Amino acid sequence: MKVWPHRFRSAPRRALIAMLAVSATAIALTGCGSSDSGDDKPVVLTTFTVLADIARNVAGEHLTVESITKPGAEIHGYEPTPGDIRTASKVDLIIDNGLNLEAWFAQFVADLDVKHVVVTDGVTPIAIGEDAYQGKPNPHAWMSPLNVQIYVDNMVRAFGELDPAHAGDFRANGDAYKGKLQQVHSELTTTLSALPSNERALVTCEGAFSYLARDAGLTEKYIWAVNAEQQATPQQITSAIEFVRTNKVPAVFCESTVSDAPMQRVVEATGAKFGGTLYVDSLSDENGPVPTYLDLIKHDAATISAGLTGRTS
Ligand SMILES: [Zn+2]
Repeated sequence: MKVWPHRFRSAPRRALIAMLAVSATAIALTGCGSSDSGDDKPVVLTTFTVLADIARNVAGEHLTVESITKPGAEIHGYEPTPGDIRTASKVDLIIDNGLNLEAWFAQFVADLDVKHVVVTDGVTPIAIGEDAYQGKPNPHAWMSPLNVQIYVDNMVRAFGELDPAHAGDFRANGDAYKGKLQQVHSELTTTLSALPSNERALVTCEGAFSYLARDAGLTEKYIWAVNAEQQATPQQITSAIEFVRTNKVPAVFCESTVSDAPMQRVVEATGAKFGGTLYVDSLSDENGPVPTYLDLIKHDAATISAGLTGRTS
């Protein structure tokens, strides 16, 4: 696990202070630990909602966990606000996914004097096979619940260092949650491996499902590799259309954080069904279909299965 303390450097610090000075609610940078929550629990800040939910399962009642990006946000090319920087300057630990998921993160933490932990440390990445990202690690490692068990191990270790008095609780919470991850992994593979071989293709907008496709034995095809370069060029759409036609794919899908318009063109050209919205880069809000990470995996497995077979299970 990598834990990098960052110290202020003179030029970025001046820029940060200038940014804070223009805010009517500028808050001193020296505060640490209690945030605005009114209690004295250490505060952990995650880059997106999926990590926040996983972290809350490990933290239990001992830590306050928040997310920089909100439900529904596009996370790859997110632009942090001055408010995000103020928030982050007061927390005790920042957690990011790594594997180049958060293109904005290195700049974000460069100006902050806060520890951060990369939760994919120890995960074996799958390389991206196409586009300008060819050969780079696919960042969506959490789409395998088995990888999330590694995320949990990294959180247990980091939270234990942050709050040693509760290290035993973090370990117990982590073990219990890893059991749930194992169960959801089994359900996922059972559901999707039951599909007939000619229905075992997963066509999506972003190439975010490499880990899930590997676990479930599905062939993966996508329009673009990573949302940060979201473009849906004519060549990319043509390639998806050819794949759907060649493999007689019955249904195609798109993700909640991007427009499904490019995939609707694939639908129009091929007669394949639009199988529904999948969740990857963000949870829904509390009243939506996937308020937790475990819900996200269950929802996607059920949607993929129902879309490809035409049956709801
Ligand atoms: Zn993504």
